[in-house]
Amino acid sequence: MDMERLWAPWRLGYVQGSDPEATARAVPVDAWRPGADVDCFLCRAAAAAPAHDRTLGVVARTTASVVVINRFPYSNGHLLVAPLDHRATLTALDDEQLLDLQHCLAEWCRVMESAMQAQGFNVGLNLGRVAGAGVPGHLHWHIVPRWAGDVNFMATLAGTRVLPQALDELWLQLTASAEAAHS
Ligand SMILES: [Zn+2]
Repeated sequence: MDMERLWAPWRLGYVQGSDPEATARAVPVDAWRPGADVDCFLCRAAAAAPAHDRTLGVVARTTASVVVINRFPYSNGHLLVAPLDHRATLTALDDEQLLDLQHCLAEWCRVMESAMQAQGFNVGLNLGRVAGAGVPGHLHWHIVPRWAGDVNFMATLAGTRVLPQALDELWLQLTASAEAAHS
């Protein structure tokens, strides 16, 4: 896949008037998880019904983890992998949660290799606000897929917002690919 095609969704998409941020915040949650922060988007993603997954950018929810598309990506395919529970430190997680998070990291790298021909990944955890965590109360690993020659695009996109349509297309692409692998 060449760069023209890879980044085309950004140029072809257009904003349709609604505020995706506000829409996501308005997604109802019937049963928050114990210890949840109702203002935390990861807690909302963890607890929302599957019917809202597309709105929230949730691509997977396991017994212990949730995988969400980052709305402020460094590259196309930038995912966040978080425990379902609102926990700020690694020591607050039990072995089952830690293992499940690692499984999710492995699985979603594999999905992006298959669905997006990703050639490499930066996988990282910013632990605590001083380390750069944007949501310091809720641990989350970043998976940033990489392609040969993508450095200029990384610099261009870092910290910028992409059009909601591009994120929605990514959601469709990744969930379809993950489903195909499991059927
Ligand atoms: Zn949270």
